[in-house]
Formats: sequence, C-alpha cells, structure tokens
Amino acid sequence: MSLVKLEYIWLDGYKPTQSLRSKTKIEKDFSGKVEDLPNWSFDGSSTEQAPGGSSDCVLKPVYVVKDPQRKNAYLVMCEVLSAGGTPHPSNGRALIQDDDNDFWFGFEQEYFLWDTATNKPLGFPEGGYPAPQGPYYCGVGANNAFGRHIVEEHLDACIEAGLNVEGINAEVAAGQWEFQIFAKGAKQAGDEIWIARYLLERIGEKYGVSINWHCKPLGALDWNGSGMHANFSNGVLRTCGSKETYDKICEAFRPVVKEHIEVYGADNHLRLTGKHETASIHDFSYGISDRGASIRIPLATVERGWKGYLEDRRPNSAADPYKVAAVIIKTVKSAVV
Ligand code: ADP
Ligand code: MN
Ligand code: MN
Ligand code: MN
Repeated sequence: MSLVKLEYIWLDGYKPTQSLRSKTKIEKDFSGKVEDLPNWSFDGSSTEQAPGGSSDCVLKPVYVVKDPQRKNAYLVMCEVLSAGGTPHPSNGRALIQDDDNDFWFGFEQEYFLWDTATNKPLGFPEGGYPAPQGPYYCGVGANNAFGRHIVEEHLDACIEAGLNVEGINAEVAAGQWEFQIFAKGAKQAGDEIWIARYLLERIGEKYGVSINWHCKPLGALDWNGSGMHANFSNGVLRTCGSKETYDKICEAFRPVVKEHIEVYGADNHLRLTGKHETASIHDFSYGISDRGASIRIPLATVERGWKGYLEDRRPNSAADPYKVAAVIIKTVKSAVV
C-alpha cells in the first residue's frame, strides 16, 4: 500500500479576479480516474465564498492529472458547489453549455514573470528600465530573454502532467512569456489552462518569482499588455466552407460586446486601447489576418476555403477561461447560420 497525495484545486470567490486555492488530501489508494475521487469541503468564509455562520463549500473533482513534481501525487481540478449541491456563483465551469464537446478551444496565455524583490518584471533593472520593446519577442540571449529556466521547467511539467500544451514563446515585453493550450472540449481547455497556471505559480515559488496575470502591469507606459487570445471553432466553423457563415457568426458578437467584455478579464480598458496589437474596447471589428481587430479570421482558415477557426483577441491574461468559453459558445450558438 502506498499513500497518495491528492491536491484538490479550486477557484476562490474574489472579485473581479478569482485566484487558485488548493489543499492536500491523503488517500490510501487511487485508481487515477476522476470518478473514483470523493467530494471534499473547505472553509468558504476564508475565500469569499460563504458566510462564517455556514461556511462549508463542496469541492467536486472534475479533472485529474499526475502531479509531475511530487512523489505519488495527483492534481485534482474541482468545481465549487454550494452546500446544497448546486454550482456556486463563482463556478464559471458550470456555465459552459457544450455537452457534446463540439467546441474546440486554443488559449494563448500570456503573463509576466515578476521579481518579488524589485516588484518589476524579470529583466527590469532596479530603478530603471531595460531597452525598449523590440528584441524580446521570441528573443534569445541574456539581454533579451529573462527567466527561461522557469519557462522551460513549466513546459516540462505541463507535458509530464499530460496537458496538451502546444508551444511557448517569449513575448513582446521584457520578462513576458506565453504558452498555448488546445483541447477538443471547452471544459477540458479550461481545466488544462487552470492546471497549467497552478504549475507555473508553484514553480515560481521556488525562485521567488511570482506570476503577474494582470493585463497591463506596467500601466500606460510603452510596454505591451498581456492577453489570453481565445481561438475557437465548432463543427460549423470547421466545415462550412462559406464566407457568409463566418460573417454571420462574427456579426453575432457585435450586439453583445458588453456581455463579453464583462468576463474577458479585469481592467481590460487599460489594455484594449487600439495600440499594441489590440482593438479599442469601445469598438467591435473583425477581419482576415487583422491583429488590430476584436476577432481575427486567420489567413489559413480563408485559404482552406473558409474552414477553420476564429480568434477572439479581447480576453486578457487574467480572464477565467471557463467564463470566456461559456460566453463565446452562447454567442456562436445564437447565430442563425
Ligand atoms: P498567434 O500567436 O499567431 O495568434 P498561436 O500559434 O500562438 O497563434 O495560437 C493559435 C492557437 O489556435 C493555438 O492554440 C491552436 O491550438 C489554436 N487552434 C488551431 N486550430 C484550431 C481550431 N480548429 N479550433 C480552435 N483552436 C484552434
Ligand atoms: Mn500566440
Ligand atoms: Mn502572444
Ligand atoms: Mn493570438
């Protein structure tokens, strides 16, 4: 018999941005299958999820992977339920209406590696700034790439855990990086992003480096913000072969800009300025290959005869992928095609 460490992971109830919480449960044996995991509970009064007088919230395991960094251990992504067993208001995963996994999502998660001593991104000298943006995007060398050891360790951890990470790259600002995760299924994509975020946070602990998920951590200065572009498709987008259908689906996003921006991450008005490869938060636009549009139609989709996917460029780095997916699915389904 060997004891197994199960790290139950969930999202707290903080507004406007939820954070990861977790605690360890020791079990005697575990099959490795999520359906064999028991529900558990936690003190919701410490996470803005319940009043102190009736504090128990329920953790319902929904996705499990091997923990690549701990002996005999698993990472268990959980949904939060209220005491009565219904989804807690903080539970964005429960909003996803995609039972047949028709929707595929590829998220591009950008973030800054943040020096906890200087309170600046890695690569920023104390009391000043590094050279302006230019050499950092996909850059190499000690003057251009900062924190690669952390990024590499994270990539290996994601692969070992079995997450479908598709790539990494250094981003436009110094100390800014990106990873991409793709899944055939919106819940799965959200689960994998959250587990990947968890692994990154935990690796950062080892080096005294925190992960800054804010979409514009350097304010209005001439440094890029961080996004989480949501690439998405459903059966129709993958097979229709019709420009008209693509237009109808894109147009369905126009009247619901506000509803989308509400879940696309806090402080997005600071990032969606129309500069730095973004569209203004006040406009809605879409276009082929257009990185200044709200929604980009990738050139490859057009070249394949209007079969492929769309990229909503508005979600930011701190957005909840569950809520982003839920609203995109709702809007795509509302298009009459
Ligand atoms: P860029 O930086 O040029 O916007 P990336 O290569 O970083 O592009 O990201 C593109 C994303 O699109 C990847 O995460 C990929 O998985 C995703 N993707 C590709 N095809 C589809 C599809 N059919 N449905 C949903 N997402 C897709
Ligand atoms: Mn990218
Ligand atoms: Mn990017
Ligand atoms: Mn992109």
